Amino acid sequence: MKRLIVATSNRGKTREINNIVAELGFEVSSLLDVAIPPEIIEDGDTFEANAIKKARIVSDAFDCASLADDSGLVVDALDGAPGVFSARYGGEGLSDTQRYERLLEALKDVPEHERTARFQCALAFITPGEPVQLFNGTVEGRIAFAPRGTKGFGYDPVFLPEGQHISMAELDSDKKQQISHRGRALQQFAKWVSSR
Ligand code: IMP
Repeated sequence: MKRLIVATSNRGKTREINNIVAELGFEVSSLLDVAIPPEIIEDGDTFEANAIKKARIVSDAFDCASLADDSGLVVDALDGAPGVFSARYGGEGLSDTQRYERLLEALKDVPEHERTARFQCALAFITPGEPVQLFNGTVEGRIAFAPRGTKGFGYDPVFLPEGQHISMAELDSDKKQQISHRGRALQQFAKWVSSR
């Protein structure tokens, strides 16, 4: 079975990615499973650049296939912030809850129709000796006025996906997987793997 390391230490992402990738016939692990994870500085201007950088570093370090997700929340009323800085929005050392509270505070005077936002995900897959493969996924929605739900991770409690009456953190994991940015990018990755 082909070894694949998912280039993340984020437990929420690992949970969402590992099951799907394992179903594709990979022996899958993540940076949570390795003794000394390589240092990765996410300094790209785009989700794609960061995803490629993460996958490249991990593939080179362990000489195996690597899949990296770079993702985040793009809020129109904040000119696209937090974007590629979603994991660090508000400063280092904050919890997910403190980060989305900062976001709600920044948007407190923004009316409902101007609270449009989207989650974006770039997935980069690298196998040693082969060209990088990129897959993208987006889910449109709005930022709520208050958090709802306890599932998922990150900004899920304050994101209301288009066409749903509930927040991303109120969706069952299967449903989130169907409609989310990461789920959509993973569906494309799965299709590509199956077509080879
Ligand atoms: P990075 O890709 O490691 O830079 O981190 C992306 C950050 O975006 C995460 O730490 C979360 O704060 C946020 N994020 C990405 N995907 C999701 C999601 O599916 N739900 C909620 N927050 C997310």
